Amino acid sequence: MIKLHGKMPKRDDGEPFVVRVVRGTPGSPLAGDREAYILGPDEVAPPGYRAYLSAGGAHLQSPGQTRVIWPIPEELSYLSDGDIVRINPKTGELWVVYRRSSPFNAMLLTERCNSNCLMCSQPPKAGDDSHLVKAYLDAIPLMAPDSAELGITGGEPTLLGGSLLQVLRACKEHLPDTALHMLSNGRLFNYLSLCREFEAIDHPDFMIGIPLYSDIPHRHDFVVQAAGAFDQTVRGIMNLARCGQRIEIRMVLHRETVDRLPQFARFVARNLPFVEHIALMGLEMMGYVKMNLEALWIDPVDYRQQLRQAVDVLRQHDLNVSIYNHQLCVLDRVLWPVARKSISDWKNEYIDKCRECAIQDSCGGFFASSSLRRSAHIAAFQSHEVCSPIAGVKKQVSNV
Ligand code: SF4
Repeated sequence: MIKLHGKMPKRDDGEPFVVRVVRGTPGSPLAGDREAYILGPDEVAPPGYRAYLSAGGAHLQSPGQTRVIWPIPEELSYLSDGDIVRINPKTGELWVVYRRSSPFNAMLLTERCNSNCLMCSQPPKAGDDSHLVKAYLDAIPLMAPDSAELGITGGEPTLLGGSLLQVLRACKEHLPDTALHMLSNGRLFNYLSLCREFEAIDHPDFMIGIPLYSDIPHRHDFVVQAAGAFDQTVRGIMNLARCGQRIEIRMVLHRETVDRLPQFARFVARNLPFVEHIALMGLEMMGYVKMNLEALWIDPVDYRQQLRQAVDVLRQHDLNVSIYNHQLCVLDRVLWPVARKSISDWKNEYIDKCRECAIQDSCGGFFASSSLRRSAHIAAFQSHEVCSPIAGVKKQVSNV
């Protein structure tokens, strides 16, 4: 698991700042000192950078160093050229805002939310967290323009109103070739006026992922712990479609949602056939899931049949469906072609059994938090068990 936060010594009372990391040969620093230089062994700090970082701490006492040098915590020593960090001199906090080489960068813009889902992996927090938007607005111009995709998440990003629109405009201006994928509960899109504002931004590659947890309103409302949420979300999805926005539906699979999966699939096929993608997702054992584990946990093997039926329904209607966060050994083999390696690299892991498995390269593995509860049916495949079918699976999974 890759850490994104670390502690350094406190330095002064300066305000937090966001910088892009330069490692190796010093180039010409950006105007306005927007870069931090990571010193190589025995290297003297070159002039002109906003901050200086040392991976081993060896420079800190070196003669000839006159600049303030921050020791990078061991767990963040992977930092490299083009990564972006936020340094808080008052607290010594180093936060990795963006990793140049990762396909899983996401901007968590707020921790506030107007729902309170039973299985929320990032439970809502009230209070002023406007520093998050500020950090990302500072970071976006420093991100690599050839980044393939950037996520937007929360909390509920639409609660930010104008600040969210500002982030979208900044992405369009500085990263016009980067796909944006935003997670939203969709409830505020119940207001057509908000959908119109998104439409007006006219981002060239923007998709909104919206969770829907049942075909029955009160069951969705129970999962998100908000009366009336189903109606707002479904109206929101329709309003967005009316405004030409691209939509993905996300369904998290647990004990409260799996029994009506086939009916849910039929509901989507009949009423929301315009959505671009449907993601059927395994549970992440974080946040509220830990508290509600006994009520929510069901071994994926125990809902294989419903999952297969749901995928069949969606495919029969020519809808684009994927399964996220599931290990291949718990899925019906006919579902392998729609199983994706979906877990972000910084929280993805495999267990000891996987070392011997012939299809580990194609399998998405586990969340790092899965040690809390895993399927009782995890079992490595021998190469002779998967010889011919796996060739097709590998191709489709790795092409995601
Ligand atoms: S044993 Fe591990 S790598 Fe193999 S399919 Fe199962 S979870 Fe995936």
